[in-house]
Amino acid sequence: MRPDDLKLWKNHCYIDGMWSPALNGETIEVTDPATGRTLGTVPRCATKETSVAVSSAARAMAAWKALTALERGKYLHRMHGLIMDNLDELAAILTLEQGKPLAESKGEIIQGASYFPWFAEEARRAYGQVIPTPDPGKRPITIRQPVGVVGIITPWNFPFAMIPRKAAPALAAGCAVVIKPASQTPYCALAMAALAEEAGVPPGVFNVITGDSSKIGAELTADPRVRKLSFTGSTAVGKKLMAQCAATMKRLSLELGGNAPLIVFDDADLDRAVDGALGSKFRNCGQTCICANRILVQDGVRDEFLRRLAAKVEMLRAGSGLEAGVTQGPLIDEAAVNHVDALVRDAVEKGAKVLTGGKRHKLGGLFYEPTVLTDVTPAMRVFKEEIFGPVAPVVGFASEKEAIALANDTEVGLASYVFTRDLGRTWRMSETLEFGMVGVNEVLLAMAEAPFGGIKESGMGREGGAEGLMDYMDTKLIVMGGIDG
Ligand code: NAP
Repeated sequence: MRPDDLKLWKNHCYIDGMWSPALNGETIEVTDPATGRTLGTVPRCATKETSVAVSSAARAMAAWKALTALERGKYLHRMHGLIMDNLDELAAILTLEQGKPLAESKGEIIQGASYFPWFAEEARRAYGQVIPTPDPGKRPITIRQPVGVVGIITPWNFPFAMIPRKAAPALAAGCAVVIKPASQTPYCALAMAALAEEAGVPPGVFNVITGDSSKIGAELTADPRVRKLSFTGSTAVGKKLMAQCAATMKRLSLELGGNAPLIVFDDADLDRAVDGALGSKFRNCGQTCICANRILVQDGVRDEFLRRLAAKVEMLRAGSGLEAGVTQGPLIDEAAVNHVDALVRDAVEKGAKVLTGGKRHKLGGLFYEPTVLTDVTPAMRVFKEEIFGPVAPVVGFASEKEAIALANDTEVGLASYVFTRDLGRTWRMSETLEFGMVGVNEVLLAMAEAPFGGIKESGMGREGGAEGLMDYMDTKLIVMGGIDG
């Protein structure tokens, strides 16, 4: 498949309704992680282009926020329709730039697209309140208003879905957006800009700028016209951006790293737990923020769990995401492969055993063998760090108390999973786990209808649900006096 054959494959930025190169003509090369071949280039924009994009957003927002939610919603519904009409082409773009299997790309796009209709409708219910007054002469009421221009920065692991989660509520609320996608995967964002153009979204409301992340980030965070920054990426960059936003006191949504425990109790439905661990760990080749990072298994079922998990992991098939039957794409780059391999080496040196996998894949390039490690302990890096690769570290435990202590032994708190059939334990675990999300006998957590997000160093804010819209709206208090004459 060649990028040139895809009509949504765009090599320029989309600013103020126009397709433009960087002012100095510089570009960034984008490669296919499965083959290493160059796919194309995108503009290497920096400070000036970002400022132009923010100006266009600020200008366009005046008319956009004046539309009714119903009218704005029509554009969002059109975006959804166009995404679904172009599903195959978008999936090809996603797989080419990111590497995941085509079936996963389609799943990501369908799921991501669902945020458009959800927020189109949710904005129609952005109610204020009439507050019971403590003073007969006053009537306090609240209204909801769009927060202002929103800067959006997204990562490479879900190049498509991370954008609607942020842009759909922002647009629905009446905000204009300036989006900076990851430099390794800019083409999904540019394709979405092409669809926004086709949907008739007014120029300046939806901007996509590619380029130098630190310069674009510095400008987005410094410009007082940007009233909110919504970022998904690493905790380290999130902290940096949060500090940069302090000077202009911007609102922040930060969806950062995770270190999810997946806890399997003796009473669990073992087939379901094994399938859950497999799906959670090896989707997107282990490169998701909510991936099971540590699999905690109670002593009574550990041997059997490991036997069944290893058997299924050995059936996973690595290769180009464009090939039928492939379940494991490449990792995103050489640094990622080195990181994963270093974590496995560290674990083995400290006493972990490799049940299957454990090294670079014979396919070479950026492929790594789907791996299961046993006898993992908290002393190992693989227990503490986000793996972001196809490595399942299994840790044993004896009691519920021990499982909770192990699970909560991390400074991040995004997703967690519990497999049990005991109702009391389900409640105890759900209430005690220090994570923003708990999956009980379930590993798929993201849906437009529900609030997705983390606590502790996994960030702040929620994507999806009613909360997802409120993150892009301010509450204004209006107090009317002189009512009692
Ligand atoms: P990253 O290095 O933090 O990059 C994310 C984005 O930030 C990219 O667009 C990157 O641009 C940009 N960026 C990097 N340095 C920047 C700076 N100084 N100023 C402004 N922008 C900057 O993260 P990643 O490795 O791409 O993504 C993986 C991380 O994202 C993992 O930790 C994962 O857990 C997290 N994640 C979290 C969620 C969630 O919902 N909580 C979802 C998905 C991923 P360039 O590519 O141009 O450098």
